[in-house]
Amino acid sequence: MKDARTTELDAVVVGAGFAGLYAVHRLRGLGLRVRALERGSGIGGTWFWNRYPGARCDIESLEYSYQFSPELQHEWEWSERYATQGEILRYLEHVADRFDLRRDVQLDTLVTAARFDEPTHLWTLETDTGERFVARFCVMATGCLSSANLPEFPGREHFAGATYHTGHWPHEGVDFTGQRVAVIGTGSSAIQSIPLIAREAQHLTVFQRTASYSIPAHNGPIDPELLAEVRADYAGFRRRNAQMPFGANFPLGEKGALEADPEERGRVYEQRWQRGGLGFITAFSDLPLDREANETAAEFVREKIRQIVRDPETAENLAPKQVIGCKRLCVDTGYYETFNRPNVTLVDVSETPIQEITGSGVVVGGREYPVDTIVFATGFDAMTGSLSRIDIRGREGLPLSEKWSGGPRTYLGLATADFPNLFFVTGPGSPSVLSNMVPSIEQHVNWIADCIGWLRERDLAAIEATPAAEDAWVAHVNEVADLTLYPSCNSWYLGANVPGKPRVFMPYLGFPPYVAKCDEVAAKGYEGFALAPGAGMPPGS
Ligand SMILES: Cc1cc2nc3c(=O)[nH]c(=O)nc-3n(C[C@H](O)[C@H](O)[C@H](O)COP(=O)(O)OP(=O)(O)OC[C@H]3O[C@@H](n4cnc5c(N)ncnc54)[C@H](O)[C@@H]3O)c2cc1C
Repeated sequence: MKDARTTELDAVVVGAGFAGLYAVHRLRGLGLRVRALERGSGIGGTWFWNRYPGARCDIESLEYSYQFSPELQHEWEWSERYATQGEILRYLEHVADRFDLRRDVQLDTLVTAARFDEPTHLWTLETDTGERFVARFCVMATGCLSSANLPEFPGREHFAGATYHTGHWPHEGVDFTGQRVAVIGTGSSAIQSIPLIAREAQHLTVFQRTASYSIPAHNGPIDPELLAEVRADYAGFRRRNAQMPFGANFPLGEKGALEADPEERGRVYEQRWQRGGLGFITAFSDLPLDREANETAAEFVREKIRQIVRDPETAENLAPKQVIGCKRLCVDTGYYETFNRPNVTLVDVSETPIQEITGSGVVVGGREYPVDTIVFATGFDAMTGSLSRIDIRGREGLPLSEKWSGGPRTYLGLATADFPNLFFVTGPGSPSVLSNMVPSIEQHVNWIADCIGWLRERDLAAIEATPAAEDAWVAHVNEVADLTLYPSCNSWYLGANVPGKPRVFMPYLGFPPYVAKCDEVAAKGYEGFALAPGAGMPPGS
């Protein structure tokens, strides 16, 4: 149905974070009429929403940035090894201006539904503004960590003070001075924010269900020598990093931990600890594979915690018990040290969960902890949350939620059978959250744009993953995960943080083999995809 509120496009992109912005750039470069629809009132995605104190990337900025433009890469000056939220947002604003992307981004527009029309092979998107967008291609750049998870603590609605979720932080900031603050959750956002909240608050009580492993960031200004070295061969730096398991500069140890003697192991872990950051986890090749090997790294970190945290009971509670790396590894600045402050209390809720939230506090085991403010650092409905909030329907009106009721099923994380011309960026079944996400996003958007260009050259109307290719890919993703320790704990990689969500290990492990597979599929004429002949490509052009 066409009316004044219907806009015809060649491609519609949902989201205007790193992925949506680059998709606009690439698709426009193909000569397509494209628009990105973004529910936020600004661009930037993750870096627009997550403004909590201490929010910053934990992949180094020299890598956590676009590489599609050598000029951009050379001219942008990162001030710190790990950029703050504010600096990353400024960078994305700069990118949007430099490449004139804003004219094809529509803000304050929530996509509520997306429907595939069989005879025309077109997608119709509906929004909360009452507009409709009709396009041949639909690119979901909705983000893997963009749908806040707020558990239903009994009594939450009765709390009289202010409440915040780290993923929806007020733009004007929050002043905790003189307040009794609760932080619920101890994942990455909590670990970044707790040291800063503790400095302001009169008292901070941290409610921890599962302790996280955290490695010091050793953040600071970018080392000028390193910067000069990278800039002398930025392309080479990127190429080498793309060959590493997470697509980031975390060199994989040549040996297994169990092949080294305790002295050598300790030396290697200490070097990685002193270097700081997520690269700790690739110190030895067998850490993700072998429980005994993994335990040597886990115990090294636990021992560090015991050395840092003065109160033995608090230290023991902060020392994680699970396999290291199977939940998101964290990177911090002064996290464990914060628990030595007299105004910080840790409450372990692993065995006695939060009973209720009252008008004035948080109750655990019959005891009320009085607070003025609650910060929910309870993370996200990861990887599928933003997709499941849109009513997406494919062939014969099939809802995506129905197709994925047992867990997400994709071919290469990019597409799913029965949903032609619908693409996901860093979707489930791709390396996504287990990779340096900016290169992953660029790789996906490049693949999608190349695919659309290829279809266009051949006047093809539609591309769709075949059920056989999808089944084989889902089986492969699981096989790879099952070779590792990743599925061994209740992580958000498995959907375990959201009640009722199917337990399926969602990311694909291994950036280099993944990229090779995507390239091979494209080189073989999009092997594993069915193609539909065109009725003119794209509509209106
Ligand atoms: C605090 C934090 C720190 C992180 N640090 C790192 C890091 O160091 N390294 C790393 O690799 N990754 C990191 N990540 C992951 C991060 O999400 C990605 O790196 C990257 O920013 C994702 O970009 P994106 O464009 O795919 O998604 P997002 O940035 O999440 O953008 C998606 C956008 O889609 C919009 N959207 C969703 N649904 C709809 C809808 N129905 N209608 C309209 N708009 C919609 C959202 O509002 C959002 O703006 C971090 C994530 C968080 C939360």
